[in-house]
Amino acid sequence: MKLSALSLALAAALSCLPLAWSPAQAQVRLPSLGDSVSEDVGVGAEKKLGDEIMRQVRRDPDYIDDPLLLDYVQTAWTRLVNTARARGDIGADTDGVFAWEAFLVRDRSFNAFAFPGGYVGVHLGLIAAAGTQDELASVLGHELSHVTQRHIARSIASSSRQSLVGMAAMILGVMAASRANSGDGINAAIVGSQAAMMQGQLNFSRDMEREADRVGFNVMTEAGFSPQGMGAMFEKLENASRLNDSGNYPYLRSHPLTSERIGEARTRAQASATAAPAVPTPEHLVMQARARVLGDTTVGALRRVQAQSGESDRSLPTAERMAMLYGAALASAQLREPQRAQATLDAARALAGNEAPVRRAMAMLQAQIWLDSGAADRALAAVEAIDDGSRPLMLLRAQAALGAARGAGLARTDALRRSTDVLQTWVADHPQDATAWSLLAQANTQQGLRLRAVRAEAEERAALGDLSGAIDRLRAGQRMARSGLPGSTDFIDASVIDARLRQIDALRRQLYADANRPPPRD
Ligand SMILES: [Zn+2]
Repeated sequence: MKLSALSLALAAALSCLPLAWSPAQAQVRLPSLGDSVSEDVGVGAEKKLGDEIMRQVRRDPDYIDDPLLLDYVQTAWTRLVNTARARGDIGADTDGVFAWEAFLVRDRSFNAFAFPGGYVGVHLGLIAAAGTQDELASVLGHELSHVTQRHIARSIASSSRQSLVGMAAMILGVMAASRANSGDGINAAIVGSQAAMMQGQLNFSRDMEREADRVGFNVMTEAGFSPQGMGAMFEKLENASRLNDSGNYPYLRSHPLTSERIGEARTRAQASATAAPAVPTPEHLVMQARARVLGDTTVGALRRVQAQSGESDRSLPTAERMAMLYGAALASAQLREPQRAQATLDAARALAGNEAPVRRAMAMLQAQIWLDSGAADRALAAVEAIDDGSRPLMLLRAQAALGAARGAGLARTDALRRSTDVLQTWVADHPQDATAWSLLAQANTQQGLRLRAVRAEAEERAALGDLSGAIDRLRAGQRMARSGLPGSTDFIDASVIDARLRQIDALRRQLYADANRPPPRD
């Protein structure tokens, strides 16, 4: 297995991170651990550091945009962030500045991590292991509290003998080492040992862990999640730590369980014993099954999931069998076996109740199976019928409209045009959505709008943190506009390209200026 790209990112960060702080800048009033939070590391510096790390993370192939799972995690995450805001945990200084963004990592181990600037990464293995959305929310609430309580700023401060460039490299290294998929062989071992050394400097203190437990518990319960979710999560972590299962639970290495933490979690669980129990909703079971499948898409793993039909164990509750069948159908779809996927999905749908998110997940998988078997028209009609304006359906509709247009030529351009309009409006509000830009690029290409397609490709590169790639595409657009080829003569499109080239080039120059390095000649 190849070394994960995150560890490559580590090497890149060590050698040529474009964003850097001189030691003088790094010493801008970095508080010691004992200092009060208000004398913080500097929100601006923390944000810059976090944005740079995120730029590297977005280029990792295991940074995964699965619209359904992302939607599910973000729904819980947004409730927590809004509650923290209402409680006053999120100060005016960080509110409009930090990203407050949760993202997914294709990794089957149990982990979630916060890093500077308000970013929280969620391994698919965490979703798969969480028995309920409340359990998931207890981990997200804990991570969110590390951000709101400025623990990250204080940890950076406590190990700030090095420049913040070293800090970015160190955080990327710790993330790489915490990956179940980070490969084997000597490179992984080197990265692992470096990261282990580095991690010794970056760990949160015991007091910070207890504070994140306490604040996180209050945030999650005030957001309406069952307090029992946290108790259940602690039980899971305790069992794993007793079994010394740190390979599958990298979370335990970065958030060590102490007797104080366990004791306090018990006390909270007892105090909330009368609260509504944390029960797995059918939606959670379906998302759990999805995370399990997408967390490991090697053929062997998919075959194992595919073999679980749920039929063998009729003693299981209906919802669990339904979710198991959904997972098996998804695995067959991933293996490009649409007939088998269809048969298993039919069995799953027969057990699906009326919960809207479950029906939506089933209908979307159905449309995907039709798309994969060349029935794009049918997929398009199905998706248009259930389109609820959500991001997952918008993206699937664009895929289906593209497939239908490719199959039928001009006959289906109406549907493609409608879907393109929706995407265009969306990216105006969400310019960081690389997946939407990619579909927009394909839709414009299909409609012969070459300049618009090139611009969308450039925006996709920029959203993924590849500013040089974006600049290359925009320059190609300028050459195209001068050529006067069909589809390349729109004056407004050409002006947008000129303007974006100036903006992105200026941004790249700024990054190099921050690093005291000359920009590349190109
Ligand atoms: Zn923690």
